[in-house]
Amino acid sequence: MSRFWTDKIASLDPYVPGEQPQDKQYIKLNTNESPYGPSPKALAAMQDQVSEKLRLYPDPNCQTLKNALAKTYSVDADHVFVGNGSDEVLALAFMGYFAGGKPLAFADITYSFYKVYANLYGITPDIVPLNDDFDVVPSDYENLDVSGIVITNPNAPTGKALPLADIEKVLQSNPDIVVLVDEAYVDFGAQSAVTLVGQYPNLMVVQTLSKSRALAGIRVGYAIAQPELIEGLERLKNSFNSYPVDRIALAGATAAVEDTDYLEEICQKTVATREWTTIELEALGFQVLPSATNFVFVTHPEHEAESLYLGLKEQGILVRYFGNKPRIGDFLRITIGTDAEMAALVARLKEM
Ligand code: PMP
Repeated sequence: MSRFWTDKIASLDPYVPGEQPQDKQYIKLNTNESPYGPSPKALAAMQDQVSEKLRLYPDPNCQTLKNALAKTYSVDADHVFVGNGSDEVLALAFMGYFAGGKPLAFADITYSFYKVYANLYGITPDIVPLNDDFDVVPSDYENLDVSGIVITNPNAPTGKALPLADIEKVLQSNPDIVVLVDEAYVDFGAQSAVTLVGQYPNLMVVQTLSKSRALAGIRVGYAIAQPELIEGLERLKNSFNSYPVDRIALAGATAAVEDTDYLEEICQKTVATREWTTIELEALGFQVLPSATNFVFVTHPEHEAESLYLGLKEQGILVRYFGNKPRIGDFLRITIGTDAEMAALVARLKEM
């Protein structure tokens, strides 16, 4: 029998997160987590909160974290918004700035959550295909009749980055709509558009602590934009959940953002391991897209992605396979782990 809610539930097409298997210990190269622990200073700050302090609500304004981020990116604290992972920041931006009108432009291939939010908020996607080299082409974003544009830089899961001049072209040809630049992986080698925020009132940059700051477990993301756009996100947040970031996360995130030396150290290690992995995979006949992230997007002319994924899983190594889909289905996305983990990956692939 069809009840009131059945159609509603059937209409949802949720995001399927990467596997987080509990059956055994895998070398986990499938969800772009950092192989290194968070900053020791962040761990100490979080441990300090695990006390009687937890009877108190956190600061709903996340002021200490906003101040630390503002200092890091040379903006005022009223240019910063904080949310429960960048997924929540994206959800609020979609709700506030893209819903209720024209379609929203974003690429194919890109982060698959955009389609999910679009569906949730009744937004029609205006899909702009990447070119044959898997690049975003700025002129494809001119003269669109859309409510907004999302550019992922570096893109995921391709790993390719756009130069800042190309981001500027998109901003300049779309002065009246929000251009959201999702920079989840920017610290691993791309140029951040944060430096353009002062010039472009239509720019919103979104970043996360989940990747380069090794804090996926505490769910903290943020947006940087001019105060008008930030104020919109604050109003939405306060209409939805005034306390999206808990006390432990807030303390850990603030200490992690302040520890810039640690950020630099683990990013450098990841980039060095990525370069080594790229050379090794190419020697095995893989095509490896140039990556500015903590993962590589690879395909092999003689071996199907699915059989490689299954063979590696059998050997205790998890990588991301996207299913039998056009274009993306030929590829695997492999997170950069430690040197030892990547050496194990290469050794298994050689055997296979
Ligand atoms: N944007 C992109 C491009 C991502 O790949 C991810 C991670 N899956 C996110 C945003 C979300 O990250 P988080 O919610 O952990 O901040």
